[in-house]
Amino acid sequence: MTRSKGRPAWWSTSITKAALRLLPPGGARDRWRAELTGELWGLSRGEQLRHTAGVVARAPALRAAVTARDRVVAEDVIRKPMRCRLGSHKWVTTSSSDGTSRYLRCRRCRKETDFARPSHFAGGGGGVS
Ligand SMILES: [Zn+2]
Repeated sequence: MTRSKGRPAWWSTSITKAALRLLPPGGARDRWRAELTGELWGLSRGEQLRHTAGVVARAPALRAAVTARDRVVAEDVIRKPMRCRLGSHKWVTTSSSDGTSRYLRCRRCRKETDFARPSHFAGGGGGVS
């Protein structure tokens, strides 16, 4: 019988992966799964049990951290078009839903600004009508 030294027990990896299903599917879940199951390698059975219980106990907090608003905003910033990140927005005039006020909003990144004086107003290429 070959002894696979350090290999985690099936239950520890299975329970860890199951607990991480709480996280939304995608890169964050994949990274946490790889990291947390990777940490199981080389642990004794008792350590695996503690580690696995810790993952189960902390999975809801981990989910909250992964889906937190500031994280979502940070990812929005990453997706923001390069020209907008450089301050060159494509402003268009927009009315509020009740029609009482008008303001400017960038067509590319949806940044909003005061109608009176947008910064970099000239950078939009005639989007204001
Ligand atoms: Zn923009």
